[in-house]
Amino acid sequence: MDIKFYSLGACEEVTGSKHILEIDGASYLVDCGAFQGTRAEADRKNRNIGISTDKIESVILTHGHFDHCGLLPLLAKQGYRKNIYATPATRDIASLVMMDSAKIQARDAIYLKNQAQKKGEEFNWQPLYDEKDAIQATEQIISVPYKRPIFIGNGITLELYDAGHILGSAMVFLSVKKNGKERKILFSGDLGRKGKPIIRNPTNKIPAPDYIVLESTYGDRRHSTTDSAMEKLGELAKKTVKNKGKIIIPAFAVERTQELVYYFHLLIDKKVIQEIPIYVDSPMATNATAIFQVHPECYGEEVREAFIKHHKNPFGFNSLHYVTSIEESKKLNDHPGPLIIISADGMCEAGRVQYHLVNSISDPNTTILIVGYMAQNTLGRKICDKHEEVKILGQTFKRRANVEIINAFSAHADYFEAVEWLNAIDTSNLKRIFLVHGEPKGQSFFKNYLSEKGYPQTEIAKYDNVYDLSK
Ligand SMILES: [Zn+2]
Repeated sequence: MDIKFYSLGACEEVTGSKHILEIDGASYLVDCGAFQGTRAEADRKNRNIGISTDKIESVILTHGHFDHCGLLPLLAKQGYRKNIYATPATRDIASLVMMDSAKIQARDAIYLKNQAQKKGEEFNWQPLYDEKDAIQATEQIISVPYKRPIFIGNGITLELYDAGHILGSAMVFLSVKKNGKERKILFSGDLGRKGKPIIRNPTNKIPAPDYIVLESTYGDRRHSTTDSAMEKLGELAKKTVKNKGKIIIPAFAVERTQELVYYFHLLIDKKVIQEIPIYVDSPMATNATAIFQVHPECYGEEVREAFIKHHKNPFGFNSLHYVTSIEESKKLNDHPGPLIIISADGMCEAGRVQYHLVNSISDPNTTILIVGYMAQNTLGRKICDKHEEVKILGQTFKRRANVEIINAFSAHADYFEAVEWLNAIDTSNLKRIFLVHGEPKGQSFFKNYLSEKGYPQTEIAKYDNVYDLSK
């Protein structure tokens, strides 16, 4: 038995997840994500997947985030026609995310072409793929529910386990049995956290792995607990009712928006806050919420208890409105407070949230609530850092709105939570841990921390470096 492991993305960085297990010459690809970051560099890296499609036996997708599924359409475009395995909810979310990316790329191509023509420059940029390729990739996805082992190759069994990261997210467990020998390899995918709303906790009921490929996004950070998020949301809503103001929440369309809606629903149900008009102003978030509604098999006990048992929809209630048309979105400008607007994109770099900020950022009765990670140089980061003046859509605005931050929403385990999870699973056979999906500084802290906590066999995976897992 010959098993090799190497990565072609998310090595000493947090995007572009592509991990390969080569078993007796056949390649199994875990995730095929896009690189994100500065435009030109990400584009260059995304054009070369790094493995030829005829070498790939199967693809396994951990979850529907763009940095994990974003290059599946490119794989399809390059001729890959074999199976892609994912949970049913991941199939739906990935389809939405891939189609959205294809649309954005088509729009960018037109915009960039116009810009180049105006300047009299040559234009030769092409989208990575189009909607046809995204549909092709979706067609190849075989839905595999959690804990339903299936054979995906000679002596190779795949089983998916709850990762507790986003709806449908899974850890990938591969067992390879050949010539009386067995190797068990676990890919954590993005590892979630306990107590997140809607979905279940990351499971620790997994057979003992020999090797773990572990994410390390927050290798040197700790998060607040999710309980504190509910409390703070309640406080802010009460304050907004009192001063008849607005809360604007920039949020990603998948997961964060549904979590916010779910929390507000709970707060209203428990009469912690009164019913305030809440608008989800993002067509993509509206579509994503529809996916959440048709996957109750992913819900945790709390949602089942609070809503399903009482035949209630956790993502719909009287004062909640989903906005899709631009006219309706514009009308929100004149809507008197109190009012809550949840809108995309999450880092305020594009989308309708920018128009809401233009309208309200100079109003001291507005609260801008930051609930997600804001990358450097984004408008979201400037607001998060409480800049007094910000530029939105080419215009400069004085920021008089109040800025509040809740960092308890993170979908990734921090270093403490990751070790807590490791301690809870059976590590009696564990030979090595490979760290992926993290920045170098956080990874070296995490490696030392793991060593202190009894996991000295940890290695930071290097790009395209081949590790032998046959031993
Ligand atoms: Zn993710």
